[in-house]
Amino acid sequence: MPHPTRRGLAAAGLALLAAPALGQQPYPSRPVSLIIPFAAGGPTDIVGRLLAETMSRDLGQPVVVENATGAGGTLGAQRVATARPDGHTILLHHIGMGVIPTMYRRLAYDPVNGFEPIGLVTEVQMTLVGRRDLAANNLTELVALMRSQGDRFNLADAGIGSSSALCGALLTHAIGARPTNIPFRGTGPAMQEILGGRVDLLCDQTTQTTEYIRGGQVKVFATPSRNRIATLPDIPTTAEAGLPGFEITVWHGLYAPRGTPAPVVARLTQSLQAALRDPKVIERFAAIGTAPVEQSEATPEAHRRFWTADIAKWRPVIEATGQYAD
Ligand code: ASP
Repeated sequence: MPHPTRRGLAAAGLALLAAPALGQQPYPSRPVSLIIPFAAGGPTDIVGRLLAETMSRDLGQPVVVENATGAGGTLGAQRVATARPDGHTILLHHIGMGVIPTMYRRLAYDPVNGFEPIGLVTEVQMTLVGRRDLAANNLTELVALMRSQGDRFNLADAGIGSSSALCGALLTHAIGARPTNIPFRGTGPAMQEILGGRVDLLCDQTTQTTEYIRGGQVKVFATPSRNRIATLPDIPTTAEAGLPGFEITVWHGLYAPRGTPAPVVARLTQSLQAALRDPKVIERFAAIGTAPVEQSEATPEAHRRFWTADIAKWRPVIEATGQYAD
């Protein structure tokens, strides 16, 4: 076989740089699955569907929402951590990514190193809402009712690892009540039970509760945050209503499986940023009590920093409340 000339080698090198390697296709080459680890109709699903719509246009391929539910959001996360790392399977998750590494001492995936952060999405305040005919009209009366009813009082959540369960654990720990926890595959279905009057209380994001609070279909007691909710200013904070030191805000981030090539992650970050700048997304977020993060936060670096700090922030709290999945 004749030796290739230097010039021939250089030309081959250039060709390799210019064209994708054999078998490699431009990204995305097919629809992207956006895994939502909670049920359709709930707060994470609502945010995910808004993102999917705009990211589909930006990426030039459909971003298809799939609800992979169960086990407090860990099954959907596992699905993405173990997917082929090519950017065609991504995850929208929430504060669960900050608490699951402590709450779950056994998992079939790595809850920290199994992912590449793409960017933060939004921060959402929570509200404590109850069925309309609950015999309490403010937080003080609610606390008294929960204490007196013991396990006859029931509290809905989306399973250990969900924000509703964390909020419920913080509340019951703070007031010394022991209600019965009723887990659902997401707070979408849990809200249906509150509306139907079959469950007493739920702590959930404004992205779902705003509509029902405005429509008077639920009783709202407080928001467990430092500040009131700008779009629902009549709701007191838990501290104002007599329960200081009980704060939880839900954050959402977008993830790809660990090992996803950097240019693919960069393309997803670009697409996420475009979605968060979209006036329609901003308007629809505002209607459900939230806002996109700053563009500088919708980056892998800012996301990783925030996520790492959140794991450290929640570890001692979880140890104190003892909310473990095993
Ligand atoms: N809000 C839910 C939670 O409690 C999850 C959801 O359905 O979005 O974590």
